[in-house]
Amino acid sequence: MAEVLVYVDHVDGAVRKPTLELLTLARRIGDPVALVLGEGAEATAAVLAEHGAVRVLSVQAPEFSQYLVVPKVDALHAAFQAVSPVAVLVPSSAEGKEIAARLAVRTGSGLITDAVDLEAGDQGPVATQAAFAASFTTKSRVSKGVPVITVKPNSAPVEAAAAAGVHEVLPVTFTALSTGTKIVSRTPRESTGRPELTEAAIVVSGGRGVNGAENFAVIEALADSLGAAVGASRAAVDAGWYPHTNQVGQTGKSVSPQLYIASGISGAIQHRAGMQTSKTIVAINKDAEAPIFDLVDYGVVGDLFTVVPQLTEEVHTR
Ligand code: FAD
Repeated sequence: MAEVLVYVDHVDGAVRKPTLELLTLARRIGDPVALVLGEGAEATAAVLAEHGAVRVLSVQAPEFSQYLVVPKVDALHAAFQAVSPVAVLVPSSAEGKEIAARLAVRTGSGLITDAVDLEAGDQGPVATQAAFAASFTTKSRVSKGVPVITVKPNSAPVEAAAAAGVHEVLPVTFTALSTGTKIVSRTPRESTGRPELTEAAIVVSGGRGVNGAENFAVIEALADSLGAAVGASRAAVDAGWYPHTNQVGQTGKSVSPQLYIASGISGAIQHRAGMQTSKTIVAINKDAEAPIFDLVDYGVVGDLFTVVPQLTEEVHTR
């Protein structure tokens, strides 16, 4: 069967959920071959095989931690040449999209970014993308070269499918370009203990209606009761109430969780652009005419300072 190359996103051997989702989609097109870079590759092999990887290729080299993305592109390109896949799937993170774009240039292939679904087609994989702030979906196919496709987190279920999962170490020669930019220091962000915004299954967001940085504690309490990530509208971010890294929308992050709860957010088109593909949308707003109510599955007309704590309390009692 044709092989599909899947770029694995992992942290020290712990495979991140978006990669397991990619394996579900890859199996619709062919046999997934997983590429794992850096430390901890052995630890990933069993999980990847459990989710359908017929082969796990790994590359270990100091370049991955010392330099920016180009060494990773070199390794992916080497895997591409070794496997001759029918498609390459990469998680839609900022880094993933850069890696995918660079690989597409090197292989003379077409690139599809931010797919939200993928299916097999007579002339190659067909990707679904959300367009015009997710008001429409489009289906597209690459007509030149081997399709390189990035897929948004939470676009597919994680499904187990045990495979043989042979682990092979891939030899890679790095290009001169790969050492062009060196990382001189890293400052890790202080962890909040909450899930990563773009990968979270539940996101609770606050907007201008939250009315102050200190009031975000109400949003955070609901998020923590649900094991959710915290998002914010641009109005809240611009006011300095919450960090820009948490902004959802056109100029922020794009999220697609199972559940999105918008509190004190009016539903401007630029905010919708980042959350409209969420599976279930709930809004809490004191204005019954707020545009957010046009796209919600469930809406509560009320003061968020009354409704959100009640919701948090209710979650705690379950
Ligand atoms: P508002 O529109 O002011 O809405 C606040 C809402 O809170 C109102 O509906 C009000 O009824 C409700 N409310 C007030 N008090 C309470 C209460 N106590 N209880 C319940 N409800 C209450 N915006 C983004 O979010 N993300 C982006 O990435 C983004 N990018 C942009 C890019 C460009 C180029 C431009 C021009 C704009 C962008 N914006 C973005 C801004 C966007 O147009 C809106 O201005 C912004 O989303 C509004 O944020 P908001 O809904 O929090 O505030």
